[in-house]
Amino acid sequence: MKCIKCKNEASIYIRRHNSAFCKDHFIEYVFHQTEKAIKQYKMFTQDEKILVAVSGGKDSLALWDILISLGYKADGMYIDLGIGEYSEKSKEKVKKYANKKALKLHIISLKEIYGLGIEEIAKRNKKVPCSTCGVIKRYIMNLTARELGYNAIATGHNLDDEAATLLGNILHWQIDYLEVQEPIHKEEGYFVRKVKPLYRLTEIETSAYCIIKKIDYIIDECPMSHDARSLMYKESLNILENKSPGTKEHFYYGFLEKGIKYIKRQEEKIELKNCQICGEPTTKDICVFCKQMEKAHLNSLDIKNSIERLKSQQ
Ligand code: SF4
Ligand code: ZN
Ligand code: ZN
Repeated sequence: MKCIKCKNEASIYIRRHNSAFCKDHFIEYVFHQTEKAIKQYKMFTQDEKILVAVSGGKDSLALWDILISLGYKADGMYIDLGIGEYSEKSKEKVKKYANKKALKLHIISLKEIYGLGIEEIAKRNKKVPCSTCGVIKRYIMNLTARELGYNAIATGHNLDDEAATLLGNILHWQIDYLEVQEPIHKEEGYFVRKVKPLYRLTEIETSAYCIIKKIDYIIDECPMSHDARSLMYKESLNILENKSPGTKEHFYYGFLEKGIKYIKRQEEKIELKNCQICGEPTTKDICVFCKQMEKAHLNSLDIKNSIERLKSQQ
C-alpha cells in the first residue's frame, strides 16, 4: 500500500478515511486533526498557557507531544494517586518524557500529602475508587491551573472515549451529561477552561503516534478500573466500525453538529457560593471535594497548601 501523499511505502492505513500514510505523513495527519479540533472549538491560542493532564498513558503523552510540536505553550501535570506499582511506573514514564524534552512538569502526590493512596481514601469514603478519584483529580487540576496562571486544562480523551461515553449517555438518556459532551467546557468564574484536543483521533492512532515518535508510555490499565460498561460500549462500537468504517466518527461528530443543539437547555445562571472550608466555588455550603475528604477524616486544605508550595516554586 502506498502513502496517499508521497506514494512511498505506507506504514498505516486509516480505514474510516480510506487513506494510507507513510510515517511522516501520518504525523502530519495527526497534527492536522488536532489543529482542526483546536481551531473549530477555539480551545486555546499560541499565546495562552496550557496545562496537560498527563497520566503516563499513550493519549496524554501523545497530546503533550503534539501540542509542543505545534508550538503551543504546554506544561504537564501528573497526579500521583498512590496506586502501588502502577503509579510508580506511570510517574516514571511521565518524568522520563518531561526530562527528555526539558518540559515543565508539576507533580502532586496523594501519598506524600496524606500517607494514603486513592484506594484507602475511597474505602474511608465508602465509595468506588473511580468516583473518589474523579472528584480529587478535577479539584487538583482546576486549582493548580488557576493558581499557576494556566488558561486551559487539556486532557487526552480520544474519539473512542468520546463515542463510548456518548453511547452510554444516550442508552441511559443522561441529559445532564449529554449537554456537556462537547470537547470544550468554557471557563466560568473560578473554573478553568477544559478541552479535549484529541477527540478527532482514535486510540489506535494515538498509539501509532507514540510508537513512531518513540514515546515510552505505560501500557497497563489502572488496576482500579472496573468500568465494564465503558469497555462494553467501546467493543460494541468497534463491531459497528469494523462492519462500517466511519461509524464512530459519524456518531460523535454528528451529535456535535446536529444533535447537541436539541439537547442543550437554556443556560441557567447557577448561583455559586464559596465553600466554607476551602473557599472554592460550589453550589452547596461545602464543596464535594471537602465533603469527601471530611468523610475520609482528611484535611482538604492540605492539597491547597501543596498547590501553594508549587506556586511559590514557580
Ligand atoms: Fe482513577 Fe479510576 Fe481512572 Fe484509576 S481508573 S485513574 S482510579 S478514575
Ligand atoms: Zn508519505
Ligand atoms: Zn471545599
